[in-house]
Amino acid sequence: MPIKAFSHRYFCNMNRKHFLKSLFLLPAGALAMQLKDFHKEASDFSASQKMPVLFIGHGNPMNAIFDNSFTRTLSDLGKRLERPNAVLVVSAHWLTRGETSVAVSPNPETIYDFYGFPPEMYQVKYPAPGSPATARELVQNVQSIQVHEDHEMGFDHGAWTILKHIFPKADIPVFQLSIDYNKPPQWHFDLAAELKKLREKGVLIIGSGNIVHNLRMMDFQKEAAQFEWAIEFDEFVKNKIASKDFQSLINYQEQGRAAQLSVPTNDHYLPMLYSLGLLDKKEEVSFTFETVQNGSISMRCFETAA
Ligand code: ZN
Repeated sequence: MPIKAFSHRYFCNMNRKHFLKSLFLLPAGALAMQLKDFHKEASDFSASQKMPVLFIGHGNPMNAIFDNSFTRTLSDLGKRLERPNAVLVVSAHWLTRGETSVAVSPNPETIYDFYGFPPEMYQVKYPAPGSPATARELVQNVQSIQVHEDHEMGFDHGAWTILKHIFPKADIPVFQLSIDYNKPPQWHFDLAAELKKLREKGVLIIGSGNIVHNLRMMDFQKEAAQFEWAIEFDEFVKNKIASKDFQSLINYQEQGRAAQLSVPTNDHYLPMLYSLGLLDKKEEVSFTFETVQNGSISMRCFETAA
């Protein structure tokens, strides 16, 4: 099995610039499925109506400890959602190459996959349990590939910085699915469709990334002007979601300069394709938050309409 690794750069919107970079190695190794545990936990699931699907533009990791319009939107979201049996997060910050992994740890650790942040950021814990049984159910549901079980992965900041506001009690099991960064956008959209059944088992699925995510072009001024190309691409995505023209979003690279600048690498864009791929044909989407921060980061969020 290959060693999986990723590095990620991030900038923090503080009074001074912080240059952040994370690099961690995720040991590979899928152990045999513990069927006894699977059946025990799986039996806990009750019949539930289909859970909604969310996409959250997570932006600055500091949102974990901020109180602003974005974090209040997340708090309100948690209050009005039906309580899920488990939460699955497809985060921009868990990238693998050549395989897709699902986290099966029963007690995932909070991962500080950044550096240069204020000390209080490293004190934040999100002590929700994992959900090995649901993770193994996911493995069963996916037919097109063999999803690997990862026993080491905790919660990356694409997951815990938002869950801290949505479910602050951290009493709902959470697990993550990695993004195979070797695969093209269409592949991710199609894989997401294989996860639909989980929604009927009370699993809330969240794509966590950003539609426009250009760290090099970020403006750290408090009242940073929004780049025209950022607004243009964010609006393009909004309109295509509203008209359910998902193929145009899969083929986003055909959109020229605005797309190139908005999605210089697609690690933060792909989680959105998971959220869209999970929708049924008749489902409508509503936008729960929208703005472009720091000139080049779209904080747009959406969810399936009730
Ligand atoms: Zn991010």
